[in-house]
Amino acid sequence: MSVNLQTPIDYLKGVGPNRADLLRSDLGIQTYQDLLNLFPNRYIDRTRYYKINELQRNNAEVQIIGKITGFREVAQKRGKRLVADFRDDTGMMELVWFRGQKWIRDNLKTGQTYVIFGKANWFSGKFNMPHPEIELQSEHESNLRSAMQAIYPSTEKLSNKGVTNKVVTNIMQQLFLETKGRFVETLPDSVMAELKLISKPEALFNIHFPKTPELLARAQFRLKFEELFYIQLQLIIKNLIHKSKIKGFTFDKVGDYFNTFYKDHLPFELTNAQKRVLKEIRHDLGSNAQMNRLLQGDVGSGKTIVAFMSMLMGLDNGYQCCLIAPTAILSVQHYQGLSDLCKPLGISVSLLQGSTKASERRIIHENLENGNLQILIGTHALLEDKVKFKNLGLAIIDEQHRFGVKQRSKLWHKNTLPPNVLVMTATPIPRTLAMSVYGDLDISVIDELPAGRKPIKTVHRFDNNRLKVFKFMKDEIALGRQIYIVYPLIQENETMDYKDLMDGYESVSREFPMPDYQISIVHGKMKPADKDYEMQRFVKGETQIMVATTVIEVGVNVPNASVMIIESAERFGLSQLHQLRGRVGRGAEQSYCILMTSHKLSQDSKTRLETMVRSSDGFEIAEVDLKLRGPGDLMGTQQSGVLNLRIADIVKDKDILEQSRYYAKNILKIDPSLASPEHSAILHTYKQMSKYRNIWNYIS
Ligand code: ADP
Ligand code: MG
Repeated sequence: MSVNLQTPIDYLKGVGPNRADLLRSDLGIQTYQDLLNLFPNRYIDRTRYYKINELQRNNAEVQIIGKITGFREVAQKRGKRLVADFRDDTGMMELVWFRGQKWIRDNLKTGQTYVIFGKANWFSGKFNMPHPEIELQSEHESNLRSAMQAIYPSTEKLSNKGVTNKVVTNIMQQLFLETKGRFVETLPDSVMAELKLISKPEALFNIHFPKTPELLARAQFRLKFEELFYIQLQLIIKNLIHKSKIKGFTFDKVGDYFNTFYKDHLPFELTNAQKRVLKEIRHDLGSNAQMNRLLQGDVGSGKTIVAFMSMLMGLDNGYQCCLIAPTAILSVQHYQGLSDLCKPLGISVSLLQGSTKASERRIIHENLENGNLQILIGTHALLEDKVKFKNLGLAIIDEQHRFGVKQRSKLWHKNTLPPNVLVMTATPIPRTLAMSVYGDLDISVIDELPAGRKPIKTVHRFDNNRLKVFKFMKDEIALGRQIYIVYPLIQENETMDYKDLMDGYESVSREFPMPDYQISIVHGKMKPADKDYEMQRFVKGETQIMVATTVIEVGVNVPNASVMIIESAERFGLSQLHQLRGRVGRGAEQSYCILMTSHKLSQDSKTRLETMVRSSDGFEIAEVDLKLRGPGDLMGTQQSGVLNLRIADIVKDKDILEQSRYYAKNILKIDPSLASPEHSAILHTYKQMSKYRNIWNYIS
């Protein structure tokens, strides 16, 4: 009889109610299956024995052969600790116990040869090992099972309550005994053969009890592949269902608006990337499935014109369109820019913000509902239920990461059919990551900047060089340029950060006095109207310097601004620095980015600053960011943390991810319902997974 892997962990011999509770609370292990899927963090070579004089201060766990030469008790604040001197032929160290001291005194003897195992700490001139695993050398030799010992994830509570790595290893062994290691294969023969994968039972055995390093590597590969394969499978199936079930508005024709604009009013030649992306969007809009597309393009790559031309496709088919921006400043700027483009075409366009007056608002609502208004631009205000369209055919969201999934879904309820959706982001998410995080979105990338842009010169300067920086600013202003100075504003540190901002503003005001110089200041505590006013003064060129917090981060376009100074640059994340830098370099002039820091820099900060100075490639910067911070933190991809991977790592295993996606796609192409007998293992696993771990709930 085979053991059901859904059996509660309490039933496993050696677990018992207390340990079962601990395993549940601290590791989330409820069933045999969960225990089996508790994959080790790392492995220790148990054929390697260290000498005491070989120990390094930052060693991981080591094992050492030696003898205890004496015990003593040492009084401490609460209770006492038991210390043993432990020697080999190269030196002496201490073993320390804070608990279970009686058992140790009763069972361990001086003069016997023991093998100890644990982490050695360096403390007042010698090494000590608290609570070592310890066995007689003779027992140790007869026990040695696997040359590589698995080290499992653990918590302080677990080790305090005696659920050590050894205990976990023992119950894992018990699980293999009870189940006889008979686990069901989950991948089809064809994939196994093509990729020369080891079987599921063999992989599970070797991940927990590796026979050789080679088998361990193959076990890891196979299990990572499997994990990613099933995630991709779920995402692709979801996407297919979406495309077949969710009908959208079809924009059959390319009409006068689009053609006239393209022929007569396009202000510049489109880049090849812009043309390609427009084709992709056109293809989606021309089909009867609802479009759900992510448009990625580095800052300044020209996403706005693509958005506008997509809206023209909607208007040509008689639909209304809207563009939602994350901040008031940005929506105003979009409104101004797009109004200019709309004018010669006779297109009606309005702006709706939180601050829009009631009388104006009434007119907008009316014209939206009767269809006179063709394009609506605005902030979140546009998502409110009382904003109703006659026939919203396309919704464009700028700077996706500022919007939650919830807000995106709000759009869907504005119509009988959901509008086509285009989300635009300047946060370059590496493609593989985007695939697994935004699995339900199709992705377009503008990977080319408009011709003739000069790369921005980026330098790192320490605070004590500030006078030189001021001098440089004066020279640039004398040339007619404008300058941003940005201060960090972190929520937890808000009060201090505002003080820094104000101090900075004051010192800049002293250095750049009126009437020769005019300075704008913009921060989050100002009223929206004041913010807009200050912003507008800068946009119009009435002020030469803009002192701001990160509110200017997204989208703002002032081509005459050629210098970006970032204060306390070490406190910004890489993608944020890159976004900020993207505010300059939009005109014909050479632009500069100056990263100001103090001398105290962490290693990560140094890496960030060096990366900024070296590279202007958003994708390269995103890759470094990902390595420094891990996918969970990457701006706009918080969902990736929810993927909750057991063994694979989206960043490190991106090759396996791509491979798994390729196989999942091909299998679904030939057998979309997984009905063929060859795919029965997949179908079975897939159903099983959907039952216990429903990916649909947390990715959308
Ligand atoms: P982003 O992708 O950051 O939103 P924008 O759409 O604001 O970038 O474009 C940045 C600037 O580049 C704008 O001033 C825009 O008019 C200009 N631009 C866009 N596409 C082109 C192009 N193909 N050739 C020249 N300039 C362009
Ligand atoms: Mg933009």
